[in-house]
Amino acid sequence: MNLCDLGTIKQIMAAHGLTFRKEFGQNFLTRREVVEEIADRCCDDENTTILEIGPGIGVLTQELAMRHRKVIAVEIDRGLIPVLHGTLAEYDNIELHNADVMEVDLPALLAPAFAEGPVAVCANLPYYITTPILMKLLESGLPFSTITVMVQAEVAQRLCAKAGSGDYGAITAVLAYYGRAERLFTVPAGYFVPPPKVNSAVVRIDLWQDRPCKPIDEALFFRVIKGAFEQRRKTLVNALSSAFPEFSKEELAEEIVAAGHRADIRGEKLDVAAFSDLADRLAARKENK
Ligand code: SAM
Repeated sequence: MNLCDLGTIKQIMAAHGLTFRKEFGQNFLTRREVVEEIADRCCDDENTTILEIGPGIGVLTQELAMRHRKVIAVEIDRGLIPVLHGTLAEYDNIELHNADVMEVDLPALLAPAFAEGPVAVCANLPYYITTPILMKLLESGLPFSTITVMVQAEVAQRLCAKAGSGDYGAITAVLAYYGRAERLFTVPAGYFVPPPKVNSAVVRIDLWQDRPCKPIDEALFFRVIKGAFEQRRKTLVNALSSAFPEFSKEELAEEIVAAGHRADIRGEKLDVAAFSDLADRLAARKENK
């Protein structure tokens, strides 16, 4: 059964009395070459277990199962579970869970897989919840080797932006803390059923095995990034003075200048290393207050 064939997809959905559920971001891939390319490029090691979020009717799941030791798939839509039992029946290396990934205890779910070897993530993500899912994966602290996700093209642009560019934002800096993001390729809206409103792109994040930035106080470091972008148009000193009422503007300006920046710099000019350095200075100053 060709799960990329439009007629087959519609037939499967109708046979199970299902419709494409917008509230679950259901846009299914219809191009075999795209599915294969994602499966090929998400991870270089076949001994890796893949966590797939949102298998849909199983098109990517099949390709991942052919290439990797094991696939753990988490699908929120109960109606798709009987479909998946059929389309994945001939694979004995797929573990299927009917759950909302945001509710799943990832360390517990993946503990046996991590005990056996490396684990990576691969998903054509539901667009309504892209950033929360990414943040949950990153903040879990789990040592995934890679996270490969299909997201809206403009989100991909943001994830992979360079400091100082218009697309650069808090999510870019936070992501750079956890790993190196690379935009792999663009996927036109017409390659999905139903087609979404915008094009998509596949992004692969290679997580740092040893993080280049090691802020003294991680919570404060994230507060600096969030504060810097909350009021993007303001200078860094003004943005941070709203986010850090415990420091006076003069104190913040002193630390920004001591870190080698102009006093009127905007937050979007700082890369993750510069944020980490500034956060360390503020942490030290707080300590000495
Ligand atoms: N992997 C399939 C493909 O590439 O054709 C389907 C991708 S579709 C964009 C997103 C999938 O994620 C849907 O199957 C949807 O039901 C599922 N989904 C949406 N929200 C979810 C959540 N919170 N947890 C798990 N799965 C979710």
